[in-house]
Amino acid sequence: MSYRGRFAPSPTGALHAGSLVAALASWLDARAHRGAWLVRIEDVDGPRCVPGADTLILEQLAACGLLSDEPVRWQSARGAAYQAALDRLLAQGDAFACACTRQDIERALQAAGTPRERHAAAPYPGTCRPERGGLAGRPARAWRFRVPAQAEVAWTDRRLGPQTQDVARAVGDFIVRRADGLWAYQLAVVVDDADQGITHVVRGEDLADNTPRQILLQRALGLPTPAYLHTPLVLGDNGEKLSKQNGAQPLDLREPLAALNAAAQALGLPAASGPLPDALASWTAAWTAAWAQRRPA
Ligand code: GLU
Repeated sequence: MSYRGRFAPSPTGALHAGSLVAALASWLDARAHRGAWLVRIEDVDGPRCVPGADTLILEQLAACGLLSDEPVRWQSARGAAYQAALDRLLAQGDAFACACTRQDIERALQAAGTPRERHAAAPYPGTCRPERGGLAGRPARAWRFRVPAQAEVAWTDRRLGPQTQDVARAVGDFIVRRADGLWAYQLAVVVDDADQGITHVVRGEDLADNTPRQILLQRALGLPTPAYLHTPLVLGDNGEKLSKQNGAQPLDLREPLAALNAAAQALGLPAASGPLPDALASWTAAWTAAWAQRRPA
């Protein structure tokens, strides 16, 4: 099967030094495999999106010489496909409607004896599962994936090595469509990766623990599981992951080579000088040597 990779930013702000690492790594991996590299704008969470950020991100990528090999896709136009996936999950009994408010969930956790300080991280207590009576006449507020009881998911990350997560204990029945009608990242990303024929996902390490949920959705929907590589995170001066939330600066469009060199360094690649196409070619060669031969066990 021919390689298809992607970079899938959420347009909640401009690209910063951290997000460029994932962009560059996914581009290099596609080039090293002589594959296609696609850009997908993940704008499902409308209220968190910043107007114009999608255009800005595409300009920043273009300034860095990173151009989508196919027309850019926006997730906001994909509601019908996500609905079809949810309908299938519901028909199979792999998803259910949930009426719980945050307070309902708190009460159920309390009744189950979960210490209060663990409520925030506790898995969904299963209140609206069909076998527990379902909605019982209450209005649906969200739709959840029904995580199988023995859902220890094992996968091998190309950089992090073998990983496992017991999804039932770690997260429980997770939301695929939110109360406000918005599609959850987990469902949208799985539907689009499959629809676009993505064979290799390269993205930031902060997303690694989402992978088991996505694998469960792929299995339930009869979709293939791509290979995964999670890239190192860039830490800010405070030692925290660089993010728009903690004030990461937008990339400087006037200095793409400097920005790319910083991203390359985070990926363990040697420094390169311009012009831009030469720098990208030398990193592609270095990436090929370092990564392209390593396959998941
Ligand atoms: N849209 C997600 C983000 O910007 C990335 C999704 C992915 O690469 O799977 O954090």
